[in-house]
Amino acid sequence: VRRLHLDEGAVLEPRPAVVTVMGHVDHGKTSLLDALRLTSVAAKEAGGITQHLGAFVVSMPSGASITFLDTPGHAAFSAMRARGAAVTDIVVLVVAADDGVMPQTLEAISHAKAANVPIVVAINKCDKPSANPERVKIQLGSEGLLLEDMGGDVQVVEVSALGRTGLDKLEETLLFQAEMMELKARINGPAHAYVVEARLDRGRGPLATMIMQSGTLVSGQYVVVGAEWGRIRALRDMMGKVIEKAWPAMPVEIEGLRGLPMAGDDVIVVETEDRARMLSTGRKEKMERDRLRKAME
Ligand code: GDP
Repeated sequence: VRRLHLDEGAVLEPRPAVVTVMGHVDHGKTSLLDALRLTSVAAKEAGGITQHLGAFVVSMPSGASITFLDTPGHAAFSAMRARGAAVTDIVVLVVAADDGVMPQTLEAISHAKAANVPIVVAINKCDKPSANPERVKIQLGSEGLLLEDMGGDVQVVEVSALGRTGLDKLEETLLFQAEMMELKARINGPAHAYVVEARLDRGRGPLATMIMQSGTLVSGQYVVVGAEWGRIRALRDMMGKVIEKAWPAMPVEIEGLRGLPMAGDDVIVVETEDRARMLSTGRKEKMERDRLRKAME
């Protein structure tokens, strides 16, 4: 409600797309994310060492970029959505070219449809001698996906995560899809974001990777994250570089929270420490009441 109020009448600016990879087990979601991550500047600068922090950014020669959520799987997608976090703009549906459409492929299609999120199909493992991408297309077509080859508007790209082929084409297709969607966000004013991953670091304490939804987040601000709060001691981009500010669709890591939040938690900025404490306490009390009520049912 607060966010809607803030966004009303605000100037909206174009923003990058946030993409989630889904598909049947073993069809290559993790491999595809690894391969895509290696095309990112962060991986190049780190000499090919890839870090899993919940998200990464691929920058294109044109200057455009794509944010990938680094948690494959339907559970993450559903859990986030169930908590009201509609973070994903596009779903990459991975289908193995040899295996074809399987139960979790269909599940992914229905999740994406229910969430009204467009699908880009990546037919993976095209390096395999047994690969049969044409069969996959026919199967998807008969499941109601209107593929571009068949006069529809669902884009299909043939890739090999292991052979690292078709990745440029996939990224270009995602950019094209994003352009058609004309994704926009408010970039001025208080930030709103969602946590995609949180972990406890021995030296640095609770760390949360979040995806910016709107506004500008500034290092040093007080934030309430789910039922936790803190003051941003350090704001880092996905290359681990300390930055001052973050804008919509950027994944950033924040340090300075007092407790560990959960994936799907929302992040808001408040003016003072008192306000942060008060909101956090209120939310914790509400969680406790809900827990007790559930236990009594
Ligand atoms: P996930 O369960 O969807 O995350 O699938 P994984 O990424 O773990 O891949 C499952 C298996 O398929 C692994 O043994 C991968 O090495 C293999 N695999 C993934 N992508 C490709 C590919 O493009 N070509 C071939 N030949 N094998 C692949």
